[in-house]
Amino acid sequence: MRLSRYFLPLLKETPSDATIASHKLMLRAGMVRQNSAGIYTWLPLGFKVLKKIEQIVREEQNRAGAVEMLMPTIQSADLWKQSGRYDAYGPEMLRITDRNDREMLFGPTNEEMLTDVFSSDVRSYKDLPKMLYHVQWKFRDERRPRFGVMRGREFLMKDCYSFDLTPEDARKSYHKMFVAYLKTFQRLGLKAVPVKAATGPIGGDLSHEFHILAETGESEIFCDKRILELDPIGDVDFDSDLSEIVEARTRLYARADEEHEGWNFEDLPEDQRVSARGIEIGHIFYFGTKYSEPFNAKVQGPDGKPTAVEMGSYGIGVSRLVGGIIEASHDENGIIWPEDVSPFDVGIINLKSGDEDCDRVADELYQALIAAGLDPLYDDTSDRGGVKFSRMDLIGLPWQIVIGPRGLKDGIVELKHRRTGERENLSPEAAVAKLT
Ligand code: ATP
Ligand code: MG
Ligand code: MG
Ligand code: MG
Repeated sequence: MRLSRYFLPLLKETPSDATIASHKLMLRAGMVRQNSAGIYTWLPLGFKVLKKIEQIVREEQNRAGAVEMLMPTIQSADLWKQSGRYDAYGPEMLRITDRNDREMLFGPTNEEMLTDVFSSDVRSYKDLPKMLYHVQWKFRDERRPRFGVMRGREFLMKDCYSFDLTPEDARKSYHKMFVAYLKTFQRLGLKAVPVKAATGPIGGDLSHEFHILAETGESEIFCDKRILELDPIGDVDFDSDLSEIVEARTRLYARADEEHEGWNFEDLPEDQRVSARGIEIGHIFYFGTKYSEPFNAKVQGPDGKPTAVEMGSYGIGVSRLVGGIIEASHDENGIIWPEDVSPFDVGIINLKSGDEDCDRVADELYQALIAAGLDPLYDDTSDRGGVKFSRMDLIGLPWQIVIGPRGLKDGIVELKHRRTGERENLSPEAAVAKLT
């Protein structure tokens, strides 16, 4: 992409309502614009990151055996009356009436809808287990939308639902999602801590939240330090017994605020106690037959008897992750994207647009990088060098190639690594080779 053709509206001043780094940086770097409280337009740069995160989430869901589909954003209130959650959900639910005075709502989550879909089409235990998911916009009329996309009112969530015949099988599905979440967050360059959680309005008896530790997190996390030191997990066979992996991460103490109460943290040696702020990026639940009973989601069991299916649900805040990753990865100059979610792979800075040599080498480099399968952003504008440098740092691409008349005299360009700040002088060919 040539910057001159792109749409990257940067802000010089940070709007005063932006108080945390990710919110400020997302506005300044032209990733999002607020339309009304907690409702955002995703500008091209932000949209690209959102889609990359979504794709990683999708790949790991698929790998765990979940199957993608898409449910609507607008739901009928009847579904929620059937589960008993229509009144319980309270003012966070955006309620709508259509022209025929039918009560509708903008879905805050999809347990009811998918249980309903499932119950009309699945009849036999032979159809189980099933894990179905979608990535869809949700709406929650948050009391205090804030921190940009981290607590929006409209936000993108991946939500998966599992259906099993027995509690033992349901636990296996839960384990699959638990491990899929660890792998997902690992790929996003995040250290996520699974904490034992209350099940709240979703109900049920087994639940974990996944948090990343950041000063600006809205939850308070208490955990055993050793949880943060566990090795990343490698390749996993999702058909094998995953309880070892899950237990290694759940036997050490980790709780968020409410759940922590009553626990004697002092039982842990002082140097093993971590108390920190956390951002909730994912949440998984096993809730048995809480929804399958009211929706009559039953299958014929091996004994011929109708059996209510055992269910779980599993959410990831895809749009919140954009902010979460920035909270975990930025410096005073701007964002530092982990390579796998960066909106572009490399930025090309032409320090002297209009200069024949600079233009030629920059164009050749741009083409060579594309031919090598990379996605470069080429700053071909006539802005001053200083503007180009700070803009490229702000938007945080992992690599920058700087082309200037002085270097070109010796046939070299400069390759800069955004995270470490390390610079290297290379021939254009060597720079391409190094990036591929
Ligand atoms: P929170 O405690 O932050 O209000 P939640 O517990 O209400 O979140 P869940 O119902 O568990 O959220 O939804 C699953 C995931 O959706 C959360 O873990 C979070 O990552 C994301 N999420 C929830 N609310 C929002 C929001 N208002 N804006 C962005 N993402 C959200
Ligand atoms: Mg909430
Ligand atoms: Mg929560
Ligand atoms: Mg939650």
